[in-house]
Amino acid sequence: MAIKNNIEDTIVAISTPVSGEGGIGIVRLSGPDSISIADKIFFSKDGKKPSEYSTHTVHYGWIKEEDKIVDEVLLTVMKAPKTYTREDIVEISGHGGPIVLRKILDLCIKNGGRLARPGEFTERAFLNGRIDLLQAEAVCDLIRSKTSHSANIIANQLKGVLSEKIKKIRKELINLISNIEVSLDYSEEDIKFISNKETEEILKTNIEKIEEILKALKKGNIYKEGIKVCIIGKPNVGKSSLLNALVSDDRSIVSHIPGTTRDVVSETFCIRDIPVTIMDTAGIGLTKTSEDENFLQKLSEEKTLNAISKSDIILFIVDISSGVTEEDIKIADNLSKKNKKTILVINKIDLKKNDAKEIFEKLKKYNFFESITCSALYKINIDKLEDKIVQMTTGSNSELSTPDTIETEFIGNARQEQALTKASENLVNALNSISNNESLEFSALYIKSALDSLGELIGETTTEEILDTIFSKFCVGK
Ligand code: GDP
Repeated sequence: MAIKNNIEDTIVAISTPVSGEGGIGIVRLSGPDSISIADKIFFSKDGKKPSEYSTHTVHYGWIKEEDKIVDEVLLTVMKAPKTYTREDIVEISGHGGPIVLRKILDLCIKNGGRLARPGEFTERAFLNGRIDLLQAEAVCDLIRSKTSHSANIIANQLKGVLSEKIKKIRKELINLISNIEVSLDYSEEDIKFISNKETEEILKTNIEKIEEILKALKKGNIYKEGIKVCIIGKPNVGKSSLLNALVSDDRSIVSHIPGTTRDVVSETFCIRDIPVTIMDTAGIGLTKTSEDENFLQKLSEEKTLNAISKSDIILFIVDISSGVTEEDIKIADNLSKKNKKTILVINKIDLKKNDAKEIFEKLKKYNFFESITCSALYKINIDKLEDKIVQMTTGSNSELSTPDTIETEFIGNARQEQALTKASENLVNALNSISNNESLEFSALYIKSALDSLGELIGETTTEEILDTIFSKFCVGK
């Protein structure tokens, strides 16, 4: 494994948010000199020094620079190996102002510490074998998670559930490869340690397992990346009102004069813990009046088309009180060419001027994915619309995952998806090679490539460059 291992120095950083004020703030040291550095700057009431304390104990005292008090603190001593980094760690909990924390940090550096790079504490936890790369990445994702559901999924990954699955697949493939290689060694004697059929079975099972993990990653990533929803409809059907009803505040101006939403107004909020960016558009085809108006309209129509192309789901709104008009048909025609998941939203059902069924019949030929009746103004059926959006996104009727099903969702990143896809492709190649009656040497090569990708995934065969890329995304102090 070509990775750096210059971990003889002691690193230090402010581990709580650096800007702003907080009740407390923590400066963390990790490395062989953590405790001796603390000895030099920490003064307790009983005169004892941190090096005299037992491991995993907390002590009250002062941080001093020469004779001057810098802060009144609690100091935690955690001796290796049962620590986050598997090194000696000292945490100094001071008062949470940026100046005070900076002073403590500077004092630690003055006494032999080195300012930590982003993610260096977690990198050390990985290099010292406490966690694997997937768990390290989960730490970063947990800090950045935007919804409580994604935090739940990632917290589960910290336990190493995903890593365990990958390790199991690797173990089976290593076993398989050694059987193939022994068979190849004895090929002249015609002794086989594993039949082609057995090899095919093992390959198939593991391809399935990898595909399942990929599916779970894609499902989980919805909670990290979120979805984009675009509201389309002619002027005055209730687009802004629907956006407000969904977001539940009055962000976009609602007016009865057609064409008030000139620009694309967007809001990000959560539906059942899925981050949703919703865009209220100016609509396609407003009534033209003057040259200037014309220009403005063209501009906003362009923006609308752009919003449609970026969206995962379109909400096409029709006003029940006006029935289906030519303009609605024009929009429906346009939308049906876009090939996007579209929900037909029949709005203003509180007015009941026309029958929703009639509207539905007139627009049936467009085969929109789903349809719903609602009142944006009186918030009727808005929860049902939310259900439909969730259903279309996750492909399941169930609401949020339960703790049991959380294990079937993972939150990952492009690196992980790429490694898994590459592994799966190589196993499929190995399988095809056997079906084509090629020498087993070929499938052995494919299986080895798959093993490399899986090794890279959990950090068993990762280069320094990959590690640098991964850990540079962390914040300093983690
Ligand atoms: P937009 O131009 O499509 O964005 O439409 P607006 O949201 O600005 O709404 C136009 C008008 O229709 C406003 O006067 C809204 O109060 C009204 N409106 C919107 N939704 C409903 C609804 O569900 N019922 C009724 N009665 N009026 C609505």
